[in-house]
Amino acid sequence: MENRVAVVTGASRGIGKAIVLRLAREGYKVVINYLNSEEEATEVLNEVKKGGGEGIIVKADVSRSEEAQHLIDTTVDTYGKLDVLVNNAGINKDQLMIRISDEEWDKLISTNLNSAFYCSRAAVRHMMKKRFGRIINISSVVGISGNAGQTHYAAAKSGLIGLTLSMAKEYGNRGITVNAVAPGYIKTAMTDVLPDEVKDRIIGGISVGRMGNPEDVAAAVAFLASPDASFITGQVIKVDGGMSVL
Ligand code: NDP
Repeated sequence: MENRVAVVTGASRGIGKAIVLRLAREGYKVVINYLNSEEEATEVLNEVKKGGGEGIIVKADVSRSEEAQHLIDTTVDTYGKLDVLVNNAGINKDQLMIRISDEEWDKLISTNLNSAFYCSRAAVRHMMKKRFGRIINISSVVGISGNAGQTHYAAAKSGLIGLTLSMAKEYGNRGITVNAVAPGYIKTAMTDVLPDEVKDRIIGGISVGRMGNPEDVAAAVAFLASPDASFITGQVIKVDGGMSVL
C-alpha cells in the first residue's frame, strides 16, 4: 500500500488509533485526526514512525464543516492526494430520550453523523479526480438494532448507514467504494465507563464470549481499504463476535 494516503478521524485513541497503526503497518501514509488529545495523537504518530511508517497529526473538530474541510485540505497539501477516508470520530452519552436536551441531540448528531458527511464531501472531490477512493464509515450494531438509552447515538449510527448506501450508489462508477463497519462491544475508553455488571451482561450475549479489541475492527477496515475489496461497496460489516445473531 505504499504511496496510498489514509485519513482516520478521531485517531488519538481507541478504534481510530488501532486503524492508524494497522494501515501504517501496511504502508499507508497516515493522517491522524484528533480534537482534544494532542499528546495521545503525538504518541500514535511516534508509534507509526517507530514502525518505519510516515504520517502527520491534524487537529480538527470534524463536527464542524470548515474544520473537516481543513483536515482534507491539509492532507492534500501535504501528500498531494487522499486514497482512504475512515470516518471514525464519535462520542456517546447514554441517557433516556426524554432527558436529551436539544443541545445534546445536536452534538451527538453533528459529531457522529455530520462529521462523516463533511469529511466525505470534501474527500470525494479529490477522489473523483483520481478515479479511486475508499470510504469506510464506523457505524455500530445499535445503528441496525437500536438500543434503549442511545436514541441519539443510534439515530446517528443508522444515518451513517444511509449515507454509506447512497454514496456507494452515487460514486461507484468513479472508482470510489463506500462501506460501513458496525462494531459491537469493543474495549475502549467509550465502554470502560460501563459498570462491571453491565459489561458482564453484555459479554454473556456475545457468542465468542469476549469483548472485541480495537484491532478486530481495524482488520475489517484494512480489508475494505485493500484491493481485495474492490468489488465490495454499499455493505455494512458487523464486527461483533456474533452478538447480533443470538
Ligand atoms: P473513544 O472515545 O476511545 O475515541 C473517540 C475518538 O474520537 C477520540 O480520538 C476523540 O479525539 C475523537 N473525537 C471525538 N469527537 C471528535 C471531533 N468532534 N472531532 C475529531 N475527533 C473527535 O471511542 P472508540 O474508539 O470506542 O470509538 C471510535 C468509533 O467507534 C466511534 O465512532 C464509536 O461510536 C464507534 N463504536 C465504538 C464501539 C465501542 O464499543 N467502543 C462500538 C460501536 C461503534 P480526542 O480525544 O482528541 O477528542
